[in-house]
Amino acid sequence: MEQPITERVKCLIIGSGPAGYTAAIYASRANIKPILYQGLEPGGQLTITTDVENYPGYPEGIQGPEMMVNFEKQAARMGTDIRYGLATKVDFLTTPFKIEIDEEKWIEADSVIISTGASAKWLGLPSEQRLNGFGVSACAVCDGFFFKGKEVAIVGAGDTAAEEALYLSKMCTTVHMIVRKDVMRASMIMQDRVLKKSNIKVYWNSEPDEVLGENSVTGVRIHNNITSQKQEIPVSAFFVAIGHKPNSDIFKEFINMDEAGYINTIPGSSKTNVEGVFAAGDVQDKTYRQAVTAAGSGCMAALDAERYLAEKGHH
Ligand SMILES: Cc1cc2nc3c(=O)[nH]c(=O)nc-3n(C[C@H](O)[C@H](O)[C@H](O)COP(=O)(O)OP(=O)(O)OC[C@H]3O[C@@H](n4cnc5c(N)ncnc54)[C@H](O)[C@@H]3O)c2cc1C
Repeated sequence: MEQPITERVKCLIIGSGPAGYTAAIYASRANIKPILYQGLEPGGQLTITTDVENYPGYPEGIQGPEMMVNFEKQAARMGTDIRYGLATKVDFLTTPFKIEIDEEKWIEADSVIISTGASAKWLGLPSEQRLNGFGVSACAVCDGFFFKGKEVAIVGAGDTAAEEALYLSKMCTTVHMIVRKDVMRASMIMQDRVLKKSNIKVYWNSEPDEVLGENSVTGVRIHNNITSQKQEIPVSAFFVAIGHKPNSDIFKEFINMDEAGYINTIPGSSKTNVEGVFAAGDVQDKTYRQAVTAAGSGCMAALDAERYLAEKGHH
């Protein structure tokens, strides 16, 4: 690789969600002097939500954006060098690893922590975007509780959609499940559970046209893609469960991942197949995808990086 190297760091953290900032707090306190690049969404996914009630330590709950400002302040106070910028290319073939920033400069790093998250896929409806955080959500476990005793809708037909519909059915009066085809992609066992649940109503061959509501969700308008018949369902929330996309494309050439792009880590650690490169948070977790699990794995990644650097004599 011919590009000029502008600097050399012991630990480079890519991403500024709960995983990246927690890794930064631990790495700074371990004195491995991390540099953290925030990416296009400083603070990560929680900056697009409102109330967070399930992160321990906030008995009254907290707004997502405010919580992420706190994460950033804590990482900065510990000494993390926090920068705007996007990792645009990497070369993990040899050490020190090389990371291109904003397609204009290259940094060398003795260790790398990947904490780039996984983005929820959305339908692309303008009303879905407008009411995001006001009844529209891509996370039933995060936001279902706010709609206890209410009617909600969910769109999706895979295992996650089935799981989230079942989760919602335990607290909501009725779950209206909108399925594009006349079959679900979910495994038979999950489908079976959904279909047996008396308060989940499935709308086959159906697609949402618009999420209704001025300041918060009041309903959803759907159409049947066989009969073209339209229908409005009054609901208080609209959950989108059509999948996630891990932000891992730039690492593909070097890092082992599953077919969806989730990075494979060695169980019980944050280690990837490349020694010295670690992964934390949603980018390596298709199961839990919560702020607290992301933060926990960020801690693991920093401790793993510190031990690796010590073993290699860099620290
Ligand atoms: C609407 C919504 C509500 C939610 N509510 C809750 C809740 O109440 N409680 C809860 O526990 N969880 C909630 N979650 C889930 C939670 O937000 C995630 O589990 C958590 O944010 C994952 O943290 P992370 O650090 O892995 O990634 P993210 O928060 O996704 O952060 C990823 C970071 O990586 C950066 N990045 C990506 N690519 C690059 C790159 N190439 N270079 C540099 N940086 C890059 C991004 O800019 C971002 O800063 C919610 C999620 C959504 C979408």
